[in-house]
Amino acid sequence: MPLTPVEKNSLVEKTPVTLLGLGAMGAALARAWLAAGHPITVWNRTSARAAALAPEGARVAQSVAEAVTASTLVVVCLLDDASVDEALTGADLAGKDLVNLTTSTPAQARARAQWARTCGARYLDGGIMAVPPMIGVPEAGGYVFYSGSRDAFEQHRQTLDVPARTAYVGENAGFAALHDVALLSAMYGMFAGVAHAFALIRKEDIDPATLAPLLADWLVAMAPTVHRTAEQLRSGDYTNGVVSGLAMQVAGTPTFLRTAEQQGVSPELLSPYFALMRRRLAESSGEEDLTGVIDLLVR
Ligand code: NDP
Repeated sequence: MPLTPVEKNSLVEKTPVTLLGLGAMGAALARAWLAAGHPITVWNRTSARAAALAPEGARVAQSVAEAVTASTLVVVCLLDDASVDEALTGADLAGKDLVNLTTSTPAQARARAQWARTCGARYLDGGIMAVPPMIGVPEAGGYVFYSGSRDAFEQHRQTLDVPARTAYVGENAGFAALHDVALLSAMYGMFAGVAHAFALIRKEDIDPATLAPLLADWLVAMAPTVHRTAEQLRSGDYTNGVVSGLAMQVAGTPTFLRTAEQQGVSPELLSPYFALMRRRLAESSGEEDLTGVIDLLVR
């Protein structure tokens, strides 16, 4: 009888993984690799967190050195760059493929790549676009940006695809962190707008639960404007495809500020963006889109 795909899969030798760091994210990663049948060796500063994974099949290393020795693929998911420094200083990484999923700045990632090279390791940096419950759940839509060694990425792609989909964004080791921070920065801008919107209705007889779906739908409807912005940035023509020109939008800003005042809401989240719009209008054509604001931000 032919083997089912699941049976065939179980016969394929799975790449062993060493994982340093079993916080909320690290533990989720470990469980995803365990569920997919990868031999996994784990280490955590607080050893009880590693011991908790032993009954699920993880091999528990007593030290970073022991953990690193166990596999060629060494994944790190610690709190921050300083904790990576503390954990890896002195480890023998020669011949290893180091995958660092710890959130860092692009400069920290590039420095870490350089350091890994001097240790004789290939290096991949990762930016996780998911929260722990999305790990190992492909339909949740989470993914991880990777940058750094293309060869290491290609070699380990299948293994890295297990916890969450992979998105390779280039050999510059800082690019994963840069993409991560760019997306999250846009998210905080959105959260700021949402905070202002709810503040406007806070003292009124309007149920926030009735505003929420309207708000969510509106944000989704507006999201595709990022494609027009990208096209304008590429072409350098900020008047291309404009739907609502800068002059018209600046003329509308007093309405937003007066409404905030009337509702007893601080304009502190909205005002800085409006100020940039006015500055851009003062030095350019009112027929432009809002894209010129980007040039004012770039120093
Ligand atoms: P946690 O706070 O749950 O875990 C932090 C981990 O880092 C623990 O394993 C902790 O060990 C370890 N650690 C902290 N300081 C040191 C140190 N000096 N030396 C050695 N180990 C140390 O964080 P998460 O697991 O949630 O996050 C891990 C990384 O993943 C972070 O960079 C985070 O930004 C990123 N991330 C997290 C997401 C999330 O939603 N949780 C989403 C996307 C990215 P100990 O158990 O001993 O304290």
